[in-house]
Amino acid sequence: MNEPVLVLNANFEPINVCSMRRAIGLILQDKAAMVVNGRGHIHTINQLLPRPSVIRLEYMIHRPRPRVKLTRREVFRRDNYTCQYCGRRDIPLTVDHITPKRLGGQHIWTNVVAACPTCNHRKGGRKLNEVQMKLPHAPKEPPASAFYMYGRHLKENGEWEQFITGW
Ligand SMILES: [Zn+2]
Repeated sequence: MNEPVLVLNANFEPINVCSMRRAIGLILQDKAAMVVNGRGHIHTINQLLPRPSVIRLEYMIHRPRPRVKLTRREVFRRDNYTCQYCGRRDIPLTVDHITPKRLGGQHIWTNVVAACPTCNHRKGGRKLNEVQMKLPHAPKEPPASAFYMYGRHLKENGEWEQFITGW
């Protein structure tokens, strides 16, 4: 009952991933309709309920433009699990603040990069121009496209691809 279900807005824009339990609740309350089953059925005492993989809301939800949350995991994913200073990707990574926090650097997408412990240590809380280290490109906030947001579910939910492509 905890499998992920892709939730589409009334205009078919992907807007969320919820649990199977929540998706079935929305369908039973007529707030959403199943778009793709793909997972068989659930037997209750007197009903045979489909197990949706994709549902669509009956009413349009209006919301601000989505943004990717700034977390360690998302920083590593944006930076392709690669140290942005030396290019290593075979070791556990850390998050480096390009302008260190104690020098007023903010915890924002444009001031954080994935760095290996060696590079992070070498930089040692100083600014880039003080340590002769370079970044391949200025880091940016990743685009909150549906593919970026929900693409990691595709391996187990290939049927979502046609719904998240292009948004
Ligand atoms: Zn490194």
